[in-house]
Amino acid sequence: MSTPDVRAFEAQVIGAFGRSLRLRDLAGEVFAARPFGRRLDVVCGDRVRGEWDPVHGEAHVLEVLPRTTALYRSNARGGSETVVANLTLLAVVIAPRPEPDWFVMDRYLAAASSAGLAACVVLNKSDLGVESALRTELEAYVAAGYAEVTCSARGAQDLDALRAALARETAAFVGQSGVGKSSLVHALVPDASIATGELDREDEGRHTTTSSLLYDLPGGGQLIDSPGVRDFAPAIDRLEPGSLGFPEIDRLSTRCRFHDCQHLREPHCAVQDAAASGALHPRRYESYRRLRRLYVDLRTAQGPKHRP
Ligand code: GDP
Ligand code: ZN
Repeated sequence: MSTPDVRAFEAQVIGAFGRSLRLRDLAGEVFAARPFGRRLDVVCGDRVRGEWDPVHGEAHVLEVLPRTTALYRSNARGGSETVVANLTLLAVVIAPRPEPDWFVMDRYLAAASSAGLAACVVLNKSDLGVESALRTELEAYVAAGYAEVTCSARGAQDLDALRAALARETAAFVGQSGVGKSSLVHALVPDASIATGELDREDEGRHTTTSSLLYDLPGGGQLIDSPGVRDFAPAIDRLEPGSLGFPEIDRLSTRCRFHDCQHLREPHCAVQDAAASGALHPRRYESYRRLRRLYVDLRTAQGPKHRP
């Protein structure tokens, strides 16, 4: 009869700080660990298996379990690297001020759809007042199928809708600097600053842009937060090649004449027709065209085997 291996563990990554990890096992025990081997790519949200090294008393991560979703950012070498894993919801935050950069928002939404995870639009700072022009812009997103939540990090009672939207999810806030993402985290997770402080000390404040932490929300759900997640640039080459992650364009494209239509200059293109008639929001179409150009440029730069 074999005895169970007491040295083996299975856990969720609840903190990643460079290569120093914080894990929580299935029994709820929290401990530090390191990936074993250079090639292992481990990020916050990952589910992992590993072993205790009895000689040094260290926990080693040996294996990353298959991810349900992963988000990628463009790195300095022109490639892509994993930002977070196993998210179920990407919450793209905007505010009346700073004024929304819609292309930034569209790029996040496209990254979420392409990665197979839900996205919602969070309009923060509602206490500043929401002009009707902003509301009109937001209608395009609701029409495309995204949920929209209005809230304010300034007033606790104005967070109920956001809490409800996050309750069953593993979510992350992304968006432009200054829209209130870290304020929202602190409003939703009262002890967030304490947890961050602990991790900072452990690694002497290095890797601040790659550090990330997973918080349990008091009302249910989990939130992954880090400076590097909040405003990462989604990797262009991870976009879904057909619609680039624009759900309304994906729906329209079934009526294009060419099955590989890129919806730019092709004849009999249902997407161009819809943009011309206003059935497709012209600014969403403009974002699509901009992303498509970036996508084509990147593929061209990567060499012939990637050329569309
Ligand atoms: P981040 O860069 O997206 O993380 O934004 P911060 O959380 O650092 O917030 C940027 C600024 O907006 C800070 O001065 C916050 O106090 C302010 N802020 C955040 N949320 C709200 C809000 O709901 N209402 C108002 N009026 N200001 C807010
Ligand atoms: Zn088309």
